[in-house]
Amino acid sequence: MDFELQEEHKLLVEMVRHFADKELTPVAPQMDAQEEFPVNNLRKMAELGLMAMTVPEKYGGSGMDTVSFSLAMMEVGRACASTAVTMSVTNMVAEGIHRFGNDDQKKKYIPPIASGEFAAASFALTEPWAGSDAAAIKTAAVRDGDYYVINGEKVFTTSGAYAGVMMVAAVTDRSKGKHGISVFLVEQGAPGLTIGKAEEKMGQRGSNTVSLIFEDCRVPAENLLGQEGDGFKIMLADLDGGRIGIGSMACGVMKACLEESIKYSKGRVQFGRPISDFQAIQWMLADMATELEAAENMVLQAAWLKDQGVRFTQAASMAKLFATEAANQAAYKAVQIHGGYGYTREFPVERFYRDVRVTTLYEGTSEIQRIVIARNILGKL
Ligand SMILES: Cc1cc2nc3c(=O)[nH]c(=O)nc-3n(C[C@H](O)[C@H](O)[C@H](O)COP(=O)(O)OP(=O)(O)OC[C@H]3O[C@@H](n4cnc5c(N)ncnc54)[C@H](O)[C@@H]3O)c2cc1C
Repeated sequence: MDFELQEEHKLLVEMVRHFADKELTPVAPQMDAQEEFPVNNLRKMAELGLMAMTVPEKYGGSGMDTVSFSLAMMEVGRACASTAVTMSVTNMVAEGIHRFGNDDQKKKYIPPIASGEFAAASFALTEPWAGSDAAAIKTAAVRDGDYYVINGEKVFTTSGAYAGVMMVAAVTDRSKGKHGISVFLVEQGAPGLTIGKAEEKMGQRGSNTVSLIFEDCRVPAENLLGQEGDGFKIMLADLDGGRIGIGSMACGVMKACLEESIKYSKGRVQFGRPISDFQAIQWMLADMATELEAAENMVLQAAWLKDQGVRFTQAASMAKLFATEAANQAAYKAVQIHGGYGYTREFPVERFYRDVRVTTLYEGTSEIQRIVIARNILGKL
Protein backbone atom coordinates (compact mmCIF):
# COMPACT_ATOMS: atom_id res chain seq x y z
CA MET A 1 0.00 0.00 0.00
CA ASP A 2 1.37 3.41 -0.97
CA PHE A 3 -0.12 6.74 0.12
CA GLU A 4 2.57 8.77 -1.66
CA LEU A 5 1.54 10.57 -4.85
CA GLN A 6 3.64 9.76 -7.90
CA GLU A 7 6.02 12.43 -9.21
CA GLU A 8 3.76 13.14 -12.22
CA HIS A 9 0.81 13.70 -9.87
CA LYS A 10 2.80 16.12 -7.72
CA LEU A 11 3.88 18.09 -10.80
CA LEU A 12 0.30 18.23 -12.05
CA VAL A 13 -0.96 19.52 -8.69
CA GLU A 14 1.74 22.19 -8.69
CA MET A 15 0.87 23.27 -12.24
CA VAL A 16 -2.90 23.40 -11.66
CA ARG A 17 -2.53 25.17 -8.31
CA HIS A 18 -0.31 27.81 -9.88
CA PHE A 19 -2.84 28.34 -12.67
CA ALA A 20 -5.81 28.39 -10.28
CA ASP A 21 -4.17 30.88 -7.89
CA LYS A 22 -3.22 33.17 -10.75
CA GLU A 23 -6.24 32.95 -13.05
CA LEU A 24 -9.25 31.54 -11.19
CA THR A 25 -9.16 32.80 -7.59
CA PRO A 26 -8.94 36.51 -8.56
CA VAL A 27 -12.01 36.39 -10.84
CA ALA A 28 -14.18 33.98 -8.86
CA PRO A 29 -15.99 36.71 -6.84
CA GLN A 30 -16.84 38.67 -9.97
CA MET A 31 -18.05 35.58 -11.83
CA ASP A 32 -20.29 34.85 -8.85
CA ALA A 33 -21.64 38.39 -8.59
CA GLN A 34 -22.17 38.90 -12.34
CA GLU A 35 -23.14 35.29 -13.22
CA GLU A 36 -20.28 35.30 -15.74
CA PHE A 37 -19.50 32.04 -17.53
CA PRO A 38 -15.70 31.54 -17.52
CA VAL A 39 -15.19 31.03 -21.29
CA ASN A 40 -11.66 32.43 -21.38
CA ASN A 41 -10.44 30.47 -18.40
CA LEU A 42 -11.98 27.27 -19.75
CA ARG A 43 -10.04 27.76 -22.99
CA LYS A 44 -6.83 28.26 -21.01
CA MET A 45 -7.61 25.10 -19.06
CA ALA A 46 -8.05 23.22 -22.33
CA GLU A 47 -4.58 24.41 -23.35
CA LEU A 48 -3.28 22.92 -20.11
CA GLY A 49 -4.94 19.60 -20.99
CA LEU A 50 -7.65 19.75 -18.32
CA MET A 51 -10.81 19.23 -20.38
CA ALA A 52 -10.49 15.64 -21.61
CA MET A 53 -7.96 14.48 -19.09
CA THR A 54 -8.58 10.75 -19.08
CA VAL A 55 -9.08 10.34 -22.83
CA PRO A 56 -6.08 8.86 -24.70
CA GLU A 57 -3.88 11.27 -26.62
CA LYS A 58 -4.87 9.51 -29.85
CA TYR A 59 -8.23 11.30 -29.61
CA GLY A 60 -6.78 14.61 -28.46
CA GLY A 61 -7.11 13.90 -24.74
CA SER A 62 -4.36 14.11 -22.14
CA GLY A 63 -4.05 10.37 -21.52
CA MET A 64 -3.90 10.86 -17.76
CA ASP A 65 -5.39 8.65 -15.06
CA THR A 66 -8.45 9.36 -12.91
CA VAL A 67 -6.24 10.12 -9.90
CA SER A 68 -4.80 13.02 -11.94
CA PHE A 69 -8.31 14.18 -12.84
CA SER A 70 -9.34 14.06 -9.18
CA LEU A 71 -6.27 16.00 -8.02
CA ALA A 72 -6.79 18.66 -10.71
CA MET A 73 -10.47 18.97 -9.76
CA MET A 74 -9.49 19.53 -6.12
CA GLU A 75 -7.22 22.41 -7.11
CA VAL A 76 -9.78 24.02 -9.43
CA GLY A 77 -12.53 23.51 -6.81
CA ARG A 78 -10.36 25.19 -4.18
CA ALA A 79 -10.24 28.30 -6.40
CA CYS A 80 -13.63 28.42 -8.12
CA ALA A 81 -16.45 25.88 -7.82
CA SER A 82 -18.27 27.31 -10.87
CA THR A 83 -15.28 26.59 -13.09
CA ALA A 84 -14.80 23.22 -11.40
CA VAL A 85 -18.32 21.93 -12.12
CA THR A 86 -18.00 23.01 -15.74
CA MET A 87 -14.68 21.17 -16.00
CA SER A 88 -16.08 18.07 -14.29
CA VAL A 89 -19.12 17.71 -16.56
CA THR A 90 -17.05 18.41 -19.68
CA ASN A 91 -14.55 15.70 -18.75
CA MET A 92 -17.43 13.34 -17.98
CA VAL A 93 -18.86 13.86 -21.47
CA ALA A 94 -15.46 13.44 -23.16
CA GLU A 95 -14.98 10.22 -21.23
CA GLY A 96 -18.50 9.02 -22.10
CA ILE A 97 -17.91 9.59 -25.80
CA HIS A 98 -14.57 7.82 -25.59
CA ARG A 99 -15.96 4.85 -23.68
CA PHE A 100 -19.20 4.34 -25.57
CA GLY A 101 -18.70 6.07 -28.92
CA ASN A 102 -17.51 4.63 -32.21
CA ASP A 103 -14.30 5.78 -33.86
CA ASP A 104 -16.01 8.45 -36.00
CA GLN A 105 -17.79 9.94 -32.99
CA LYS A 106 -14.57 10.00 -30.96
CA LYS A 107 -12.64 11.66 -33.79
CA LYS A 108 -15.36 14.21 -34.43
CA TYR A 109 -16.29 15.29 -30.90
CA ILE A 110 -13.41 14.69 -28.50
CA PRO A 111 -10.70 16.87 -30.13
CA PRO A 112 -12.81 20.07 -30.03
CA ILE A 113 -13.66 19.38 -26.38
CA ALA A 114 -10.02 18.74 -25.50
CA SER A 115 -8.67 21.73 -27.43
CA GLY A 116 -11.17 24.24 -26.07
CA GLU A 117 -12.75 24.84 -29.48
CA PHE A 118 -15.91 23.80 -27.61
CA ALA A 119 -15.99 25.89 -24.42
CA ALA A 120 -17.72 22.99 -22.66
CA ALA A 121 -19.80 19.85 -23.14
CA SER A 122 -23.12 18.91 -21.51
CA PHE A 123 -24.86 15.90 -20.06
CA ALA A 124 -28.64 16.17 -20.35
CA LEU A 125 -30.60 13.60 -18.37
CA THR A 126 -32.83 15.44 -15.87
CA GLU A 127 -36.37 16.49 -16.85
CA PRO A 128 -39.04 18.38 -14.90
CA TRP A 129 -40.72 15.08 -13.94
CA ALA A 130 -37.60 12.94 -13.78
CA GLY A 131 -34.86 13.97 -11.34
CA SER A 132 -33.77 11.20 -8.95
CA ASP A 133 -36.07 8.87 -10.87
CA ALA A 134 -34.07 9.32 -14.08
CA ALA A 135 -35.68 6.30 -15.76
CA ALA A 136 -38.96 8.28 -15.87
CA ILE A 137 -37.74 10.62 -18.64
CA LYS A 138 -40.29 11.44 -21.34
CA THR A 139 -38.12 13.07 -24.01
CA ALA A 140 -38.52 10.78 -27.00
CA ALA A 141 -36.50 10.11 -30.15
CA VAL A 142 -38.14 8.58 -33.21
CA ARG A 143 -36.17 7.22 -36.15
CA ASP A 144 -36.94 8.94 -39.46
CA GLY A 145 -34.71 7.66 -42.26
CA ASP A 146 -31.14 8.80 -41.61
CA TYR A 147 -32.23 10.91 -38.65
CA TYR A 148 -33.76 10.70 -35.19
CA VAL A 149 -36.37 13.31 -34.35
CA ILE A 150 -36.24 14.37 -30.70
CA ASN A 151 -39.10 15.99 -28.79
CA GLY A 152 -39.12 16.87 -25.11
CA GLU A 153 -37.54 19.01 -22.44
CA LYS A 154 -34.44 18.80 -20.26
CA VAL A 155 -33.84 20.93 -17.18
CA PHE A 156 -30.77 21.89 -15.14
CA THR A 157 -28.34 21.20 -17.98
CA THR A 158 -24.90 22.37 -16.86
CA SER A 159 -23.18 24.51 -19.55
CA GLY A 160 -26.11 23.91 -21.93
CA ALA A 161 -25.88 27.36 -23.54
CA TYR A 162 -22.12 27.00 -24.20
CA ALA A 163 -21.67 23.30 -24.93
CA GLY A 164 -20.44 22.34 -28.38
CA VAL A 165 -21.89 18.88 -27.92
CA MET A 166 -24.34 17.33 -25.46
CA MET A 167 -25.09 13.78 -24.41
CA VAL A 168 -28.90 13.72 -24.45
CA ALA A 169 -30.94 10.81 -23.08
CA ALA A 170 -34.22 10.07 -24.88
CA VAL A 171 -36.72 7.22 -25.03
CA THR A 172 -36.59 5.23 -28.26
CA ASP A 173 -38.88 2.38 -27.13
CA ARG A 174 -41.34 3.23 -24.40
CA SER A 175 -42.49 -0.40 -23.99
CA LYS A 176 -39.05 -1.37 -22.63
CA GLY A 177 -38.92 1.04 -19.68
CA LYS A 178 -35.34 2.01 -18.80
CA HIS A 179 -34.08 -0.49 -21.40
CA GLY A 180 -35.78 1.63 -24.05
CA ILE A 181 -33.64 4.73 -23.35
CA SER A 182 -30.89 5.78 -25.77
CA VAL A 183 -28.26 8.53 -25.81
CA PHE A 184 -27.66 10.98 -28.66
CA LEU A 185 -24.83 13.39 -29.32
CA VAL A 186 -26.57 16.66 -30.08
CA GLU A 187 -24.64 19.64 -31.37
CA GLN A 188 -25.21 23.23 -30.29
CA GLY A 189 -27.45 24.86 -32.90
CA ALA A 190 -29.10 21.60 -33.99
CA PRO A 191 -32.35 22.45 -35.82
CA GLY A 192 -35.26 22.24 -33.36
CA LEU A 193 -33.12 22.73 -30.22
CA THR A 194 -33.81 25.85 -28.17
CA ILE A 195 -31.78 26.86 -25.13
CA GLY A 196 -34.13 27.92 -22.33
CA LYS A 197 -33.66 30.51 -19.64
CA ALA A 198 -30.63 30.24 -17.36
CA GLU A 199 -31.46 29.36 -13.76
CA GLU A 200 -30.75 32.04 -11.15
CA LYS A 201 -28.91 29.99 -8.59
CA MET A 202 -27.89 30.27 -4.95
CA GLY A 203 -24.30 29.35 -5.72
CA GLN A 204 -21.96 28.26 -8.50
CA ARG A 205 -23.42 31.27 -10.25
CA GLY A 206 -20.61 31.43 -12.81
CA SER A 207 -21.68 28.03 -14.09
CA ASN A 208 -24.43 27.93 -16.68
CA THR A 209 -27.58 25.91 -15.91
CA VAL A 210 -30.32 25.91 -18.53
CA SER A 211 -33.31 24.00 -19.83
CA LEU A 212 -33.22 22.53 -23.33
CA ILE A 213 -36.32 22.41 -25.47
CA PHE A 214 -36.44 19.86 -28.28
CA GLU A 215 -39.12 20.48 -30.91
CA ASP A 216 -38.75 18.08 -33.82
CA CYS A 217 -35.00 18.36 -33.31
CA ARG A 218 -33.31 16.39 -36.10
CA VAL A 219 -30.16 14.54 -35.17
CA PRO A 220 -28.25 12.35 -37.67
CA ALA A 221 -28.74 8.65 -36.90
CA GLU A 222 -24.95 8.24 -36.70
CA ASN A 223 -25.06 10.39 -33.54
CA LEU A 224 -26.63 7.57 -31.54
CA LEU A 225 -24.09 6.79 -28.79
CA GLY A 226 -23.75 3.03 -28.32
CA GLN A 227 -26.78 0.94 -29.25
CA GLU A 228 -30.47 1.77 -29.00
CA GLY A 229 -31.61 0.85 -25.49
CA ASP A 230 -28.15 1.23 -23.91
CA GLY A 231 -28.76 4.83 -22.87
CA PHE A 232 -29.70 4.38 -19.23
CA LYS A 233 -26.69 2.17 -18.61
CA ILE A 234 -24.41 4.63 -20.42
CA MET A 235 -25.65 7.66 -18.46
CA LEU A 236 -25.37 5.89 -15.09
CA ALA A 237 -21.93 4.47 -15.87
CA ASP A 238 -20.71 7.92 -16.91
CA LEU A 239 -22.17 9.41 -13.72
CA ASP A 240 -20.08 7.02 -11.60
CA GLY A 241 -16.97 8.79 -12.90
CA GLY A 242 -18.69 12.19 -12.61
CA ARG A 243 -19.27 11.57 -8.91
CA ILE A 244 -15.52 11.31 -8.39
CA GLY A 245 -15.28 14.77 -10.01
CA ILE A 246 -17.93 16.29 -7.74
CA GLY A 247 -16.42 14.67 -4.63
CA SER A 248 -13.03 16.07 -5.64
CA MET A 249 -14.45 19.55 -6.15
CA ALA A 250 -16.06 19.34 -2.69
CA CYS A 251 -12.62 18.50 -1.23
CA GLY A 252 -11.22 21.58 -2.94
CA VAL A 253 -13.89 23.86 -1.47
CA MET A 254 -13.32 22.24 1.93
CA LYS A 255 -9.63 22.95 1.70
CA ALA A 256 -10.34 26.59 0.85
CA CYS A 257 -12.71 26.81 3.85
CA LEU A 258 -10.01 25.42 6.13
CA GLU A 259 -7.26 27.68 4.78
CA GLU A 260 -9.40 30.82 5.07
CA SER A 261 -10.51 29.83 8.58
CA ILE A 262 -6.95 29.24 9.79
CA LYS A 263 -5.88 32.60 8.39
CA TYR A 264 -8.83 34.49 9.83
CA SER A 265 -8.73 32.87 13.26
CA LYS A 266 -5.05 33.71 13.68
CA GLY A 267 -5.67 37.36 12.82
CA ARG A 268 -8.96 38.06 14.58
CA VAL A 269 -8.48 39.21 18.18
CA GLN A 270 -11.21 39.02 20.80
CA PHE A 271 -10.84 39.11 24.59
CA GLY A 272 -7.22 40.17 23.94
CA ARG A 273 -6.25 36.94 22.11
CA PRO A 274 -6.47 35.58 18.58
CA ILE A 275 -9.65 33.52 18.37
CA SER A 276 -7.46 30.55 17.26
CA ASP A 277 -6.41 30.36 20.94
CA PHE A 278 -9.95 29.34 21.89
CA GLN A 279 -10.55 25.62 22.08
CA ALA A 280 -14.01 26.01 20.51
CA ILE A 281 -12.38 27.37 17.35
CA GLN A 282 -9.55 24.81 17.44
CA TRP A 283 -12.06 21.95 17.57
CA MET A 284 -13.87 23.27 14.52
CA LEU A 285 -10.55 23.54 12.65
CA ALA A 286 -9.53 20.06 13.80
CA ASP A 287 -12.82 18.55 12.62
CA MET A 288 -12.54 20.32 9.26
CA ALA A 289 -8.96 19.08 8.76
CA THR A 290 -9.87 15.51 9.77
CA GLU A 291 -12.91 15.32 7.51
CA LEU A 292 -10.94 16.84 4.64
CA GLU A 293 -8.28 14.17 5.04
CA ALA A 294 -10.90 11.41 5.08
CA ALA A 295 -12.76 12.86 2.08
CA GLU A 296 -9.57 13.22 0.01
CA ASN A 297 -8.59 9.64 0.77
CA MET A 298 -12.02 8.31 -0.17
CA VAL A 299 -12.16 10.27 -3.41
CA LEU A 300 -8.64 9.27 -4.43
CA GLN A 301 -9.34 5.66 -3.56
CA ALA A 302 -12.43 5.69 -5.80
CA ALA A 303 -10.32 7.27 -8.58
CA TRP A 304 -7.61 4.64 -8.10
CA LEU A 305 -10.15 1.81 -8.24
CA LYS A 306 -11.49 3.25 -11.49
CA ASP A 307 -7.95 3.32 -12.86
CA GLN A 308 -7.51 -0.36 -11.93
CA GLY A 309 -10.47 -1.17 -14.17
CA VAL A 310 -12.47 -2.73 -11.32
CA ARG A 311 -16.01 -1.89 -10.24
CA PHE A 312 -16.01 1.43 -8.40
CA THR A 313 -19.70 2.41 -8.28
CA GLN A 314 -19.98 1.98 -4.51
CA ALA A 315 -16.65 3.68 -3.82
CA ALA A 316 -17.65 6.66 -6.01
CA SER A 317 -21.03 6.99 -4.27
CA MET A 318 -19.46 6.74 -0.81
CA ALA A 319 -16.80 9.30 -1.74
CA LYS A 320 -19.33 11.73 -3.20
CA LEU A 321 -21.69 11.29 -0.24
CA PHE A 322 -19.00 11.78 2.39
CA ALA A 323 -17.04 14.55 0.68
CA THR A 324 -20.06 16.69 -0.24
CA GLU A 325 -21.74 16.38 3.17
CA ALA A 326 -18.42 17.09 4.92
CA ALA A 327 -17.80 20.08 2.64
CA ASN A 328 -21.16 21.54 3.61
CA GLN A 329 -20.24 21.11 7.29
CA ALA A 330 -16.85 22.71 6.65
CA ALA A 331 -18.45 25.72 4.93
CA TYR A 332 -20.87 26.10 7.86
CA LYS A 333 -17.95 26.06 10.32
CA ALA A 334 -15.91 28.46 8.16
CA VAL A 335 -18.73 31.02 8.31
CA GLN A 336 -19.07 30.41 12.05
CA ILE A 337 -15.35 31.03 12.62
CA HIS A 338 -15.57 34.29 10.63
CA GLY A 339 -18.45 35.47 12.82
CA GLY A 340 -20.64 38.19 11.30
CA TYR A 341 -17.99 38.94 8.68
CA GLY A 342 -18.44 35.43 7.30
CA TYR A 343 -21.95 36.45 6.34
CA THR A 344 -20.69 39.27 4.13
CA ARG A 345 -19.21 39.28 0.64
CA GLU A 346 -16.03 40.77 2.08
CA PHE A 347 -14.82 37.22 2.79
CA PRO A 348 -14.84 34.29 0.36
CA VAL A 349 -16.36 31.84 2.85
CA GLU A 350 -19.76 33.40 2.15
CA ARG A 351 -19.43 32.22 -1.47
CA PHE A 352 -18.01 28.84 -0.48
CA TYR A 353 -21.08 28.29 1.72
CA ARG A 354 -23.44 28.95 -1.21
CA ASP A 355 -21.27 27.18 -3.81
CA VAL A 356 -20.98 23.95 -1.90
CA ARG A 357 -24.68 23.56 -1.14
CA VAL A 358 -25.56 22.05 -4.52
CA THR A 359 -22.93 19.31 -4.31
CA THR A 360 -25.24 17.09 -2.23
CA LEU A 361 -27.97 17.55 -4.85
CA TYR A 362 -26.60 17.09 -8.36
CA GLU A 363 -25.18 13.93 -9.93
CA GLY A 364 -27.39 12.06 -7.47
CA THR A 365 -28.58 13.50 -4.15
CA SER A 366 -27.10 12.18 -0.91
CA GLU A 367 -30.24 10.07 -0.51
CA ILE A 368 -29.65 8.48 -3.91
CA GLN A 369 -25.98 7.79 -3.03
CA ARG A 370 -27.19 6.00 0.12
CA ILE A 371 -29.59 3.94 -2.02
CA VAL A 372 -26.71 2.95 -4.34
CA ILE A 373 -24.46 2.06 -1.38
CA ALA A 374 -27.22 0.11 0.41
CA ARG A 375 -28.07 -1.86 -2.74
CA ASN A 376 -24.40 -2.75 -3.10
CA ILE A 377 -23.89 -3.90 0.47
CA LEU A 378 -27.17 -5.83 0.40
CA GLY A 379 -26.09 -7.54 -2.82
CA LYS A 380 -28.95 -6.08 -4.82
CA LEU A 381 -26.91 -4.45 -7.58
C1 LIG B 1 -26.98 23.54 -10.41
C2 LIG B 1 -27.47 22.23 -10.93
C3 LIG B 1 -26.82 21.63 -12.01
C4 LIG B 1 -27.29 20.42 -12.53
N1 LIG B 1 -26.70 19.89 -13.64
C5 LIG B 1 -27.26 18.82 -14.26
C6 LIG B 1 -26.76 18.36 -15.52
O1 LIG B 1 -25.77 18.87 -16.04
N2 LIG B 1 -27.40 17.33 -16.13
C7 LIG B 1 -28.50 16.74 -15.58
O2 LIG B 1 -29.03 15.81 -16.19
N3 LIG B 1 -29.00 17.14 -14.38
C8 LIG B 1 -28.41 18.17 -13.72
N4 LIG B 1 -28.91 18.61 -12.52
C9 LIG B 1 -30.08 17.96 -11.96
C10 LIG B 1 -29.79 17.16 -10.70
O3 LIG B 1 -29.06 16.01 -11.03
C11 LIG B 1 -31.15 16.85 -10.04
O4 LIG B 1 -31.58 18.07 -9.47
C12 LIG B 1 -31.04 15.77 -8.99
O5 LIG B 1 -30.84 14.52 -9.61
C13 LIG B 1 -32.28 15.67 -8.11
O6 LIG B 1 -33.46 15.68 -8.87
P1 LIG B 1 -34.65 16.69 -8.51
O7 LIG B 1 -34.05 18.04 -8.38
O8 LIG B 1 -35.73 16.49 -9.48
O9 LIG B 1 -35.11 16.26 -7.06
P2 LIG B 1 -36.10 15.05 -6.69
O10 LIG B 1 -35.68 13.80 -7.38
O11 LIG B 1 -37.50 15.50 -6.85
O12 LIG B 1 -35.76 14.88 -5.15
C14 LIG B 1 -36.33 15.71 -4.13
C15 LIG B 1 -35.91 15.11 -2.79
O13 LIG B 1 -36.47 13.78 -2.65
C16 LIG B 1 -35.43 12.86 -2.40
N5 LIG B 1 -35.74 11.58 -3.02
C17 LIG B 1 -36.14 11.34 -4.30
N6 LIG B 1 -36.30 10.03 -4.52
C18 LIG B 1 -35.99 9.42 -3.35
C19 LIG B 1 -35.96 8.06 -2.92
N7 LIG B 1 -36.26 7.04 -3.73
N8 LIG B 1 -35.62 7.79 -1.63
C20 LIG B 1 -35.29 8.80 -0.79
N9 LIG B 1 -35.29 10.10 -1.14
C21 LIG B 1 -35.63 10.40 -2.40
C22 LIG B 1 -34.18 13.49 -2.98
O14 LIG B 1 -32.99 12.95 -2.42
C23 LIG B 1 -34.40 14.94 -2.63
O15 LIG B 1 -34.05 15.16 -1.29
C24 LIG B 1 -28.41 19.79 -11.94
C25 LIG B 1 -29.03 20.38 -10.82
C26 LIG B 1 -28.57 21.57 -10.33
C27 LIG B 1 -29.28 22.17 -9.14
